[in-house]
Amino acid sequence: MDLALSPTDENFRAEVRRFLDEKLTSDLREAGKRTGGVLTDPPATAKWHKALFEKGWIAPAWPKEYGGPGWTEMQRYIFASECMTAHAPILANFGTRMCGPVLMKFGSPEQKAFYLPRILAGDDYWCQGYSEPGSGSDLASLQMKAVRDGDHYVLNGTKIWTTHAHFANRMFCLVRTAQGTKPQEGITFLLLETKTPGFEVRPIITMAGDHEVNQCFFDNVRVPVANRVGEEGQGWTIAKYLLEFERGNAYAAALQAKFKAVKQAAAIERHDGAALAADEQFARKLVEMDIELQGLMMTEHRVMSQLAQGQNPGPASSLLKARGTEMSQRLTELGIEALAFYIAPFEPEARKQGANVKPVTPDHGLVFMPQYLNTRAATIYGGSSEVQRNIMSKLILGF
Ligand SMILES: Cc1cc2nc3c(=O)[nH]c(=O)nc-3n(C[C@H](O)[C@H](O)[C@H](O)COP(=O)(O)OP(=O)(O)OC[C@H]3O[C@@H](n4cnc5c(N)ncnc54)[C@H](O)[C@@H]3O)c2cc1C
Repeated sequence: MDLALSPTDENFRAEVRRFLDEKLTSDLREAGKRTGGVLTDPPATAKWHKALFEKGWIAPAWPKEYGGPGWTEMQRYIFASECMTAHAPILANFGTRMCGPVLMKFGSPEQKAFYLPRILAGDDYWCQGYSEPGSGSDLASLQMKAVRDGDHYVLNGTKIWTTHAHFANRMFCLVRTAQGTKPQEGITFLLLETKTPGFEVRPIITMAGDHEVNQCFFDNVRVPVANRVGEEGQGWTIAKYLLEFERGNAYAAALQAKFKAVKQAAAIERHDGAALAADEQFARKLVEMDIELQGLMMTEHRVMSQLAQGQNPGPASSLLKARGTEMSQRLTELGIEALAFYIAPFEPEARKQGANVKPVTPDHGLVFMPQYLNTRAATIYGGSSEVQRNIMSKLILGF
């Protein structure tokens, strides 16, 4: 397989690199590097969002008519990969990659005119209210009630694992407006403001000490019927459409950046008087990881080329999700091994943007432990590995 970029794509990559060199200031790179969880926290993300918005690059997958850059699949992949390699802050994609495409397809003209420009400009910070206690993989079993009362729906119930709900001013959510004969029936897609009376966010602190996810409670929260996307009961169709956009496909670049950090740490850390990287057993693990990363990258390129020809990736997106996240976990385990006893200090404060606390852990491994802990969730969110394997077996083996 020829992995060389076309001259047009080479030029595009050079343009992206020039932009990153100029706009990705050292504070932004630092915030990206110190991200222990899935997303970087504001305010670094707000600054980075603005820079991308001004350049017209904030929503790589949006069509030009809605303010997207009109890139090809390959250009989007190159852009995502270059951002990860350069340690750009990791932006929440609930607006650009989830709610935006849903509104383009199912939103009313008024909803499109109001929300889409605000998503591009970063005026709104969205969160995703899908999961409930007891309804994750089996999402169609969700129970949060929305009862019609005049021009409003009245919401009661709870959503859980809501990433960045504490930063969000808006949520898109799935609610139950009726009990159908099948659980997929009677689900409706709503947009709401998090400042609405009766809406409460309670933090869930991860074992890495980060506040990334929350549980949200709804006590008679009134949402205008005008905030419904699509028809009442069409929520499941919309939810499935949205999930197509949720999964990323540029894992290799993010993993390469992490791998580079582990190799750097192994060159510094000592084992039996020599650099850890020279230890035969550790060196073997690094080489094995390198080979697997090359394999993942080639698979990503193959999928890119299928998408570029208008083909559906089929089971490949499940394969990339399962493989990418499982490799990410193993990579963080190598980081832990490299850092040895330096993994012990628990110092989430030292990783905060603008922190003036001198960490005990050396800089080259400051995020290894939080990344190790946070990455345990990667095989659960966005569709667990088991569920991905179910999808693959159904599509490939037919059962
Ligand atoms: C860090 C993090 C962030 C998240 N952010 C959000 C968010 O912003 N918004 C949101 O709505 N949700 C969010 N989620 C929730 C996420 O989507 C769910 O955790 C996920 O869908 C799994 O659901 P669950 O936790 O209920 O586990 P369950 O579905 O109960 O699964 C438990 C175990 O059973 C396995 N299992 C379940 N069904 C099957 C099956 N059919 N076959 C084989 N094995 C199966 C699973 O693989 C898993 O190992 C987040 C989760 C995490 C961990």
